[in-house]
Amino acid sequence: MPGEFALIDRIRARARRRDDVVLGIGDDAAVLAVPPGQQLVVASDTLVVGVHFPEETAPADLGWKALAVNLSDLAAMAATPAWCTLALTLPGADADWLDAFLDGFLELADQHEVSLVGGDTTRGPLSITVTAFGLVPTGQALRRDGARVGDDVWVSGTIGDAAGALAQWRTRGPASAKLRWRLDRPTPRIEAGLALRGLASAGIDLSDGLAADLGHVLAASGVGARLELGRLPTSRTLADHFAEPRRWELQLSGGDDYELCFTAPAARAFEIEQALAALDLPSTVVGQIEAEPGLRFGTPDGDTYTPAATGYQHFEGGHA
Ligand code: ADP
Ligand code: MG
Repeated sequence: MPGEFALIDRIRARARRRDDVVLGIGDDAAVLAVPPGQQLVVASDTLVVGVHFPEETAPADLGWKALAVNLSDLAAMAATPAWCTLALTLPGADADWLDAFLDGFLELADQHEVSLVGGDTTRGPLSITVTAFGLVPTGQALRRDGARVGDDVWVSGTIGDAAGALAQWRTRGPASAKLRWRLDRPTPRIEAGLALRGLASAGIDLSDGLAADLGHVLAASGVGARLELGRLPTSRTLADHFAEPRRWELQLSGGDDYELCFTAPAARAFEIEQALAALDLPSTVVGQIEAEPGLRFGTPDGDTYTPAATGYQHFEGGHA
């Protein structure tokens, strides 16, 4: 598009370069040095206006989130982020929009010493694709298929906040800035992922809701699980705004929290608690892996609970 190269120049001027970037933005492709003994871990996610974020979302928040969702995938693999690419489709060559977008994007990139090493810039309805590249010592990636019967099911931080913000935005009612912040500025749990190397048996990040995402772990591992709703880690703000069972629905079916859900043998519980507490990230055992396939829920009263919806799925009509 006209002005494409001016935009790329703006991006290039602000992108920081790690020593392991042999060739960054400006050639036909980037050249990156992968250290011996490490495996490359690659994740790619797209944000489309109107589908993944409200149209009026601030460009800086979009920049942050576009990278955050990808770093969250690397966190779930217990990988250290290193590099990323950015494919931008923009309605026009708006330099002010791009600068604000880069403010959010590069703030997070700098926090984790991630170098932006390339991408693509085209014209069209706003859409952002980021690919993130991380490193993991050979064989140490945290996968979805390692959960075993008897393992604890853990969740980091608190869940449901982002879904609460989305629910408030949809009804145009009173909105909590605190919940909205969790929707707009999710924190990828990179350090937690690294701390779980060698401790967790399986892991995933919570982008589509606990029920759906844990479901992927269960399917990959060939097991089931039972969760106690009374143990779901809940922020005070979420509890103030949403009562049960609506709150449970948000926590089970709402995505966008980007916390980690992982499994581990009960014998590792103390080590895990200590490792994550050292990172100031409380973590909670919410249930157990069982042999019977599927996901079951218990209420604090000891009843069985059946959720109304299980998470966002593209091409299937979205939320029930
Ligand atoms: P090509 O025609 O070879 O694909 P481009 O003109 O698309 O080259 O891009 C020129 C250089 O700028 C390449 O190094 C590419 O990776 C980089 N680049 C293009 N768009 C972006 C972007 N949005 N973010 C970062 N780098 C970009
Ligand atoms: Mg190109």
